[in-house]
Amino acid sequence: MEYRRLRGVDIWHWCKNCSKYPAKKFEERHTKPTSGKLCDECLGKEKNKKCRK
Ligand SMILES: [Zn+2]
Repeated sequence: MEYRRLRGVDIWHWCKNCSKYPAKKFEERHTKPTSGKLCDECLGKEKNKKCRK
């Protein structure tokens, strides 16, 4: 699973269908981030099993 965040913004996204999933100027990591926030929209998609990874 990939986690992405926009450079300079401390919110992590992991659903490729999130409307805010960064397409450029992002940082990426492959483990669950230990700092920063998780995106509310991604969390919601996860809950509804709508998260496309
Ligand atoms: Zn998101």
